[in-house]
Amino acid sequence: MRIPNRVKIKNKWVEITYQEGFVCGKHFGTYDPNTHVITIAAELEGHKKLECFVHEIVHAISEIYGLKITERQTEGIDGPLTKIIEALLNQ
Ligand SMILES: [Zn+2]
Repeated sequence: MRIPNRVKIKNKWVEITYQEGFVCGKHFGTYDPNTHVITIAAELEGHKKLECFVHEIVHAISEIYGLKITERQTEGIDGPLTKIIEALLNQ
């Protein structure tokens, strides 16, 4: 599946970039609230890539809307949301 190069959240453009061998702690992606850039490990594919994208998008939504969603909550949301997106794409 193709992940967009950028998405608009509220009034902010969030850019999606890729980096070889990118790991931030135990994660394969990051969202920078200062630059609004999501970086995803370039080696991720398929389900893992989409799940990482969704995870970082939840962080971006949380920050931009001031929702204060925790890492644990984000980890609880990303899996089910990814499955819903995949189900919609596979209709
Ligand atoms: Zn996270």
